Amino acid sequence: MMSLKRKVAILGATGAVGQRFIQLLQGHPWFKIEVLAASERSAGKKYKDACNWLMESNMPSEVAEMPVVNTDVESVDKAGKVDLVFSSLPGDLAGSVEAEFAVKYPVFSKASAHRMDKDVPLLVPEVNPEHLALIPIQKKARGWKGFITTDPNCSTIQLAITLKPLMSLGLKQVIVSTMQALSGAGYPGVASLDIIDNVIPFIPKEEEKMEEENLKILGTFNGKEVQNAGFALSASCNRVHVKDGHLESVFVKLDSNPTVDEVEDAFRNFKGEPQQLKLPTAPENPIVVKKEPNRPQPRYDRDEGKGMSIVVGRIRKDPIMTVKYLCLGHNTIRGAAGAGILSAELFAAKGLV
Ligand code: NAP
Repeated sequence: MMSLKRKVAILGATGAVGQRFIQLLQGHPWFKIEVLAASERSAGKKYKDACNWLMESNMPSEVAEMPVVNTDVESVDKAGKVDLVFSSLPGDLAGSVEAEFAVKYPVFSKASAHRMDKDVPLLVPEVNPEHLALIPIQKKARGWKGFITTDPNCSTIQLAITLKPLMSLGLKQVIVSTMQALSGAGYPGVASLDIIDNVIPFIPKEEEKMEEENLKILGTFNGKEVQNAGFALSASCNRVHVKDGHLESVFVKLDSNPTVDEVEDAFRNFKGEPQQLKLPTAPENPIVVKKEPNRPQPRYDRDEGKGMSIVVGRIRKDPIMTVKYLCLGHNTIRGAAGAGILSAELFAAKGLV
């Protein structure tokens, strides 16, 4: 489909999500890593000396010897000619840095800084590809040649994917309680003595992000802006002693009263544009339903669809709400780097990068 590979820069390349970008971009048919950027602590070093590699596979030889550069437009420009930028910078830094890059580059951001900006898409390619229409509005308003598009928070993405097929059943209310993996806190993340033999019932700003972001993602683009979806959502977030894979216990109230089989069918049959367009990173099934009574489980199910499928199980009637289920997603693949790559593939397939 694409003839020439697009050259990419990764900002935050030495971090947990940056490493996942590098791993997932190996052999990618449309994208090639051209520039790696991180903090002053890493700049000037070879990647293999700057990075504490945490992935299960070996560090790819083609990045090991690459230099790490400072995270500013001038340094990236000097290091190579790039077509687009993946940003996995810390949230407090991302706001201004990503805006500087967007003056000339398309920026695909994993950080929270711009997610709720009115003219910035908060994209889950299977759920709201029509929100790409915000890009020309953003470019015009800000006078940028490039743009910023964002991916939601890791715990939000998997929930939004499961809520989308429920929208047509009349989604009214959602209550979700999360059991979130340690890698979601970056590296070194939570101290071992805080989490061994323990659950921490607080993740800063996580509940607010889940409650806000889902309404924007599932909202309607009216030609000018996105109008939030009309359901209510309450989240309670916990950090648990699991390396990768967020598990979420979800309770939904619907306007209709579908059978469990009808809800299961809605999950199973759900597909989006990435599947129609056969994007390289798109899983065949965005949602995989497990029938075993004790699934999904992080250790066994997080790699479903190469970490890009959301695994749903234990769908049952609820005596207070309408139905309840559990969903599981790989937080650094579908919840982070894989999401960014899938978003960039959607833009590429539409000729927007
Ligand atoms: P991380 O492991 O702490 O990595 C942070 C990266 O940012 C490193 O490459 C670091 O470079 C770089 N950095 C730090 N300070 C910098 C500075 N002053 N200037 C330039 N670069 C700087 O964090 P992470 O888990 O990868 O998360 C990155 C972003 O993705 C965050 O916004 C996070 O909220 C978001 N996110 C994470 C997940 C997840 O599952 N982990 C999921 C969704 C979204 P050095 O190595 O040189 O310090």
